[in-house]
Amino acid sequence: MQQELQFDHSILKKFAVLDKKKRLAHAYLFIGPSGIGKVETAVAVAKLMNCQDGPEGMFCDTCSSCVKINTGNHPDVVVIDNGEGESIKIEQIRELLSRNRLRAFMADKKVFIIKNIENVTPDGANAFLKTLEEPAAESLLILTAAAPETILDTVKSRCHMVHFPSMSGHDLARRMRDDHGMEEENAHLFTYFAQGSLGAAKKLTEIRFVEKKNRLLDEFILTRPQEASMKSLLAKKDETKVFLNVLLSWMRDALLTKAGVRDNRLIHMDRIKDLNEFAKKYTFEELKALNESVVKMCRLLADNLNIKLPLLIIGEQLWRR
Ligand SMILES: [Zn+2]
Repeated sequence: MQQELQFDHSILKKFAVLDKKKRLAHAYLFIGPSGIGKVETAVAVAKLMNCQDGPEGMFCDTCSSCVKINTGNHPDVVVIDNGEGESIKIEQIRELLSRNRLRAFMADKKVFIIKNIENVTPDGANAFLKTLEEPAAESLLILTAAAPETILDTVKSRCHMVHFPSMSGHDLARRMRDDHGMEEENAHLFTYFAQGSLGAAKKLTEIRFVEKKNRLLDEFILTRPQEASMKSLLAKKDETKVFLNVLLSWMRDALLTKAGVRDNRLIHMDRIKDLNEFAKKYTFEELKALNESVVKMCRLLADNLNIKLPLLIIGEQLWRR
C-alpha cells in the first residue's frame, strides 16, 4: 500500500491538457505541505510526457519509458531529492544543467525535478537562474517547495506556480482516525502538525510524534531544561524547528484555554490538565505577549539567525513560575 505516494490526479490532468494544447511552460513550481505528493505528481508528469503506450492523458506504468522512470534509470528524467533539510549543492545543479544541454537520449521531453528547492545554496541558485532564463527546448523543469515564502523571488518569478490543495483538518483527522486507528485527541494534534497532508501525518506516526512533543513539553517548556540538553537541541536546526512548533502550539492552546475553550479545538487535548495549570499562572495579556515573542523567534529561525538569547528571555518567563 503506497497511499501516501499517490500523485494528484487533477493536477496531472491539467498537465495533460496543457501538453495537448502545446501550452506547457518550461518551469513549474509545485507548492504545498510536505508529504502531499508533489514529487510523486512531478514524476507522474514525467511519465505522462514520455509514455510510449498509455491512453491519452495518462501513462501506462509498464512501457520501457515508464519502467525506467519508476526505477530511476531513465537517462532523460532526473530527480534531485536530497532529503529533509539537506542543502542542494552547486555541483548537483551543474550536473543537471549539463544534462539539460544534451540532446535527449530517448525522451520526448526531458524532465528535471528538484525536490525542496528552498534548500538550494545561493551559488546553486545563481547557476540555476540562467537556465530558467534560457531553457533548452524539449525540457521541463519542476521544482517543489513547502512554502512560497522560502523561495528566492528570482526563482519564483520565472516559474509557473502550482498549488497543491491540502486536506481540510476535519478530513485529515477523520482519515487518521478511521484508516489508522488513531485516537480522536491525537487525530486533532496531527491535523495541526501535518498541515493538511496525509503523508506528513503518517510520517509523524512513524516517528512517534506524540511522545516526542510530550517530551519536549515536559523537558523544555514546563520545566527549566538542563543547559546541556538546551545546547544540543539548539545545535540541530530541524530539532529546534520542531521545538518551536510545539512551543507555538502550546502558547496558542494556552490562550484558548484562558479564553475558556475546553474542547477539541485545542491541539494538546491530551495535556488539558497541564494546559489549565499553565494558563492559570499568567494573565491573558502576558500569554499574548509570550505568544508574540515565540512567533518572532520562529521568524528568526527561518532567517537562520541565532535564537539562543531570545529563547532564554522567553524561558525566564516560562521556567520561573
Ligand atoms: Zn508508459
